[in-house]
Amino acid sequence: MKTLKEYTIPFSSLKNGKNLFSFELNRSFFETFNWEEFIDCSFKVDLSLIKSETMLDMNFTILGEVISLCDRCMDNLKLKLNNEFRQLIKFVENEQDVFKDELEFLSLNSYEINIAPYLFEYCLLSMPKKKIHQKIQDCNQENIQILEQYLLTKEKVNEKTKENDEIDSRWDKLKELKNKK
Ligand SMILES: [Zn+2]
Repeated sequence: MKTLKEYTIPFSSLKNGKNLFSFELNRSFFETFNWEEFIDCSFKVDLSLIKSETMLDMNFTILGEVISLCDRCMDNLKLKLNNEFRQLIKFVENEQDVFKDELEFLSLNSYEINIAPYLFEYCLLSMPKKKIHQKIQDCNQENIQILEQYLLTKEKVNEKTKENDEIDSRWDKLKELKNKK
């Protein structure tokens, strides 16, 4: 992954105890993960990393503003996000690809960690499942009409193909009967 070095934390040089970091993420950060759903965005992520001999305890506080598309009217929708996530990373002799809820493992020999994948994942997890304008009157009414029209036509086309299928299956039945004779 390109230019994500700035999200690498060389934790071996950090003091034990609490260490604070701050990151600002914009659209280009998400594009490196091929995520293009955000028309625009700006995130501020504060990370409190508590280092001990046996693990890293990372607490992310995410504040974000995203412009995405409304699921109902497909017009621009501005979302304000605010969320917190915790990630524990335990040092082990042999690094394992085991994921146990919020626990991950890192080899005792490792000395740095790239947190870009966590930043990416947690920002996306902060998005609401349903992205719609809060009030229906805030939606783009013109777009809704166009979408409804489109859905109606699509339904009609589907009905037509269904009719054709029925006719086809009747022909099949007829052929079957003929063959039996
Ligand atoms: Zn809308």
